Amino acid sequence: MTLSDIVTKIDVNAEKNTVQKLNQQLPYGVLIVGSGPAGALAAIYSARKGIRTGIIGERCGGQVLDTIDIENYISVSKTEGPKLATALRGHVNDYDIDIIDSQMVAKLIPADAAEKLHKIETVSGATLRSRGIIIATGAKWPDMNVPGEKEYRTKGVTYCPHCDGSLFKGKRVAVIGGGNSGVEAAIDLAGVVEHVTLLEFAPEMRADEVLQQKLASLSNVDIILQAETLEVKGDGVKMSGLQYKNRQDGSIHDLAVAGTFVQIGLLPNTHWLDGVIARNAIGEIKVDEKGKGIFAVGDCTTVPYKQMTIAAGEGAKASLSASNYLMNVN
Ligand SMILES: Cc1cc2nc3c(=O)[nH]c(=O)nc-3n(C[C@H](O)[C@H](O)[C@H](O)COP(=O)(O)OP(=O)(O)OC[C@H]3O[C@@H](n4cnc5c(N)ncnc54)[C@H](O)[C@@H]3O)c2cc1C
Repeated sequence: MTLSDIVTKIDVNAEKNTVQKLNQQLPYGVLIVGSGPAGALAAIYSARKGIRTGIIGERCGGQVLDTIDIENYISVSKTEGPKLATALRGHVNDYDIDIIDSQMVAKLIPADAAEKLHKIETVSGATLRSRGIIIATGAKWPDMNVPGEKEYRTKGVTYCPHCDGSLFKGKRVAVIGGGNSGVEAAIDLAGVVEHVTLLEFAPEMRADEVLQQKLASLSNVDIILQAETLEVKGDGVKMSGLQYKNRQDGSIHDLAVAGTFVQIGLLPNTHWLDGVIARNAIGEIKVDEKGKGIFAVGDCTTVPYKQMTIAAGEGAKASLSASNYLMNVN
């Protein structure tokens, strides 16, 4: 819970006052929705261009807050998520940027011929106006929703092979999900860990044929179809295995693994854009660098490989595109 969340709980008028204050804000040059790494760097680039900049988000730091160890952020050999999120906020704070915390955005109303400014409506009922909008609302990894998953999250249960694969060097792991992301994760992990077991719920995998062939060619990978994960087991400190049901004959099995990579599809936080912004089948926004004042960056887009460095880089790119757009319109 952030300080502003606590204040809102104690002071019943706090939300009303916040809404009033937000409604009085002058229009922004660029307003960024989402305060993860993509939004943070977009805000810094905009402010450095002298643009009146605001950043509104539910949780400053985004997914970085959910990360334990980070070892692949350039110039930082090793850090922890909450520490990096604090540094990220500190960096944004160094500039003249309006940071609007603990606010969920509910709606985007694009500018039209009559109203030159885009509007952002918050769940709390405030409306903010801006010439340019950068959408950086990220994504979340869906849970398996089985006993033990929450308890052993970051203690064996993980969602990101690029981030955490090397932590399981020489160990046995499981991958849940036989779509493209699950099969790619299994191939990737097979080069790092001792052994990979891929569990797929359906009678067949949905991944592209070429990926399935590659996976089948690896000697340290087992594929189990029709497997329903029932429980993540452990000793209270870290996970030690999975229990699953064979959906064909109902038999129950235990699998000894040190780690489980849940790969059942990353969900972009873009439902609030229904009917407003075109998205692909899984809800990711297609990036258009010449977007007419509305840009999108990071994990909520179709940009491949959902990683911090990539999201931050895209944030910088979108901010420069937005600045260029503002320069060229009245
Ligand atoms: C457990 C875990 C470990 C990871 N480890 C690593 C790692 O080691 N290295 C690495 O490079 N990457 C790692 N990642 C991935 C990395 O964290 C993401 O790729 C990166 O954070 C994406 O940045 P983003 O700014 O696009 O989105 P996010 O970080 O998801 O931030 C989105 C922001 O938007 C806000 N938001 C969402 N919807 C709304 C709304 N409607 N209104 C207002 N605000 C909203 C969220 O609260 C959040 O502040 C990890 C991810 C997880 C979950």
